[in-house]
Amino acid sequence: MLNLVLFGPPGAGKGTQSQKLIEKHGLIHLSTGDLLRGEISQGTELGLEAKKLMDQGMLVPDEVVIGMISNKLDANKDAEGFIFDGFPRTVAQAEALDNLLKSKAAAISGMIALEVDDVELERRLLERGKESGRADDANPEVIRKRIKEYNDKTAPVAGFYKNQEKFKSINGIGSIDQIYGAIDAVIEQY
Ligand code: ADP
Repeated sequence: MLNLVLFGPPGAGKGTQSQKLIEKHGLIHLSTGDLLRGEISQGTELGLEAKKLMDQGMLVPDEVVIGMISNKLDANKDAEGFIFDGFPRTVAQAEALDNLLKSKAAAISGMIALEVDDVELERRLLERGKESGRADDANPEVIRKRIKEYNDKTAPVAGFYKNQEKFKSINGIGSIDQIYGAIDAVIEQY
């Protein structure tokens, strides 16, 4: 199995690169952001609770996203592998993911981090907000809060995978194809 964690701050290009990776490697894309937006559009209770936090640029509770990922792993027992996009976002989520995979005799192959500076991130997110209709992309204050949440709670997740010698970082600035090429070169080593 090939189980990848695609890592990086909001606006780093994880979703874009995930699309290309699923086409080439036949993996299942698990984006907790997409799963949460799915819950919101279906008007579920979980979605309503999550929306309040997402609209403020805050993370939703660990138990919520871990539960969603656990369900998806169970629902895709025969998958060749997964791309985790936007998850794990806290060290507690990373530990839970390891345990979930262990119970299925699987493991994370590696984490690939896309490096993009804060100024470029803010520019990309505001640009995306013009088209995506995502409330959290339209407001500079919310964008800054998301970047702060990332630096405070999510950046330490890199250390978790560094300790397991599973961390690789690549430059997230350049053309989509250039960045994809760099990701693919890392995957070849797994
Ligand atoms: P981006 O990476 O561009 O911020 P996402 O779609 O990954 O976008 O996430 C949007 C929002 O959904 C986050 O700001 C957060 O509120 C919530 N979210 C997504 N994934 C997680 C997660 N793993 N843990 C906690 N909150 C999450």
